[in-house]
Amino acid sequence: LVHLSTGDILRGEIKAGTSLGLEAKAIMDRGDLVSDEIVIGMISSKLDNNPNSNGFIFDGFPRTAAQAEALDILLDGKNTSISSMLSLKVEDKELIRRLLSRGKDSGRADDKNEEIIANRINEYNNKTAPLKDYYSAQNKLSEIEGVGSVIEISNKLNTVIDTL
Ligand code: AMP
Repeated sequence: LVHLSTGDILRGEIKAGTSLGLEAKAIMDRGDLVSDEIVIGMISSKLDNNPNSNGFIFDGFPRTAAQAEALDILLDGKNTSISSMLSLKVEDKELIRRLLSRGKDSGRADDKNEEIIANRINEYNNKTAPLKDYYSAQNKLSEIEGVGSVIEISNKLNTVIDTL
């Protein structure tokens, strides 16, 4: 499966100094979501660039209802569809601890500051969490406890993916 992380793609654009990267940087540094148009366009071109892939793991995408609907339309045009949505459950306190710890060496402005992390969690609760209902209505939602070691959590994710 081809791993497509919209956050990684956006950070790559910033590093490469593209106009898209310039536009996204200030938004990402504040912990807001970048526009649906930008993210959907990026995913669309990645799908076109990988025509022979066995499938994709979308990581950090879709994050809004508009993105989920656009993704369904994109995939429908390629005679395919989403198999499953994996949602990792972790308490806010633990998320804040992990991000501040990653911020010590990730170089990410959005990992360093508790106010920005709170804004990211807020964006998630307002715009992304409702997607659980969207996929649950299609019987595609798997909720996984995101607590434990990296290996333990990877194994839980792989177990779900292996059943698809
Ligand atoms: P991440 O690497 O997934 O933590 O994303 C870092 C930042 O990139 C987010 O806080 C957003 O500003 C932006 N971003 C990544 N993916 C998306 C997306 N699907 N929709 C909107 N913004 C995104």
